Order: sequence, then structure tokens, then C-alpha cells
Amino acid sequence: MHGFELDITECGWYNAVRMNPPAIAIDGPAASGKSTVAKLIARELGYTFINTGAMYRAVTWYALQQGVCPADAEAVKALLPGIPLSFGKDGANSTVMCEGKVLSGELTETAVNDNVSAVAAIPEVRALLVEKQREYNLTEPVVMEGRDIGTVVFPNTPFKYFVTASEEVRAARRAAQGLTDSIAERDRKDSARACAPLVQAEDATLVDTSELTIEQVVAKVVADIKSKI
Ligand code: C5P
Repeated sequence: MHGFELDITECGWYNAVRMNPPAIAIDGPAASGKSTVAKLIARELGYTFINTGAMYRAVTWYALQQGVCPADAEAVKALLPGIPLSFGKDGANSTVMCEGKVLSGELTETAVNDNVSAVAAIPEVRALLVEKQREYNLTEPVVMEGRDIGTVVFPNTPFKYFVTASEEVRAARRAAQGLTDSIAERDRKDSARACAPLVQAEDATLVDTSELTIEQVVAKVVADIKSKI
């Protein structure tokens, strides 16, 4: 049974039962279709969709705003205590705010695209954001999209999907997204980093979106989730 954790006291009685709502982990490289798939799965299940990439992007954007070089890990780390970012929700989607203002277009600026992998490789940044990501799931079921959700954020969830597509399909999707985002370069850096690299969890189900429509992918994953709940 998913989600039950029993605390056993010295005298052997089960004195507390804690039930975490389900957490669906959707990981994969950029241009794999995982964002679209994750959003639709969340909608289908009525769960909250959490975009963790936006959280790493927000820290990167803030560092750039402060004139801090994202490649200078020490300087980025120094910004973290008291960083004025907060993570909330708008309806069924996660939001990122800076001093109460919701960030959106800022997060996909070219400078953010180019520097987010460097910021995401800093262990202290990851520790801070992973804690915030787990907080979402304390009170509600989530579909969380990222790179390390099945390996680090929710290693015990039985719902792990690694979404990918053939090189050919991903290249076509990259081309369609334009040249302002160095997607291939980000994937390379995200896979090579020491802390929480982009990698398929051993117990994750591989979902190849190359030959399937989005609807087929969503139906397949939702059926698998429902069979386990
Ligand atoms: O998902 P998105 O492409 O917006 O993510 C932007 C970047 O954030 C990734 O290239 C990666 O460097 C970082 N990221 C991460 N771990 C996550 C989500 C995103 O390292 N869970």
C-alpha cells in the first residue's frame, strides 16, 4: 500500500500513522515532451502540477538580477539566506514569486536558459529547493516534473516515469523551439553534474514519446498509476 509509514513505539504499539498523498515523479531531458505529459496527467488525476525547473530558473534569474555570476558558486550560495523567492500555487499549478510578484516570462529569458544548469549544479541550491518541493506533497497529491524527482525528491514513491524521445524527435522539437535555448547543452551539463544528475531511476518506467501521441502517453501513464493506487 502506498503512502503509509508506521512509527512503532518501544512497547510495540503502532502509535502514529502518517499518510503522504501520492507523488507522481516525471523526469526526463528537455524536449522529451515531459512538461506537456506531466501537466495533462495532473489535470486527469486532479493533482497539483509542480514545475521544478521554474524553481531553479528563479534562483538563476535572481542571481543575474543581483549582478552575481551564476558560474561563481560561492557568490550564488551567499545569496541563498534570505533570498526573497517564495513558492506557491495558482489553482492547480505551482508558481514562483519574487517579493510577492509572480515570475513568468523572466524565467525563460536567454540569460536564464544559458545559466540555469550551472546554478542547478550547486548542492546548496538543490538542498534548498528539494525541501520546498517536498513541502508541496505534505498536504496534497502532486505530479512533479524535473530531473531528479524519482531519484532524490521522492525516492520512495512507486510512481516514477522517465519520459524521453528518440534523438531525431528531440532534435526536431528543439528546432521548433528555436535557437534561444541551448537545450542540448543543458542536457549535457545536467547529466554530467555530480549532484543529482539527470538519470533514470532504476525503478522508473521508461516512457518513449517518439511514436505515441500525447493522448496515448497520458492514457498509458494514468492507467499505470491507477493500477497502483
Ligand atoms: O525543466 P526546465 O527545462 O525548465 O529546467 C531548467 C533547468 O533546471 C534544467 O536544465 C536543469 O538544469 C534544472 N533542473 C534541475 N532539476 C530539476 C528541474 C530542473 O536540475 N528537478
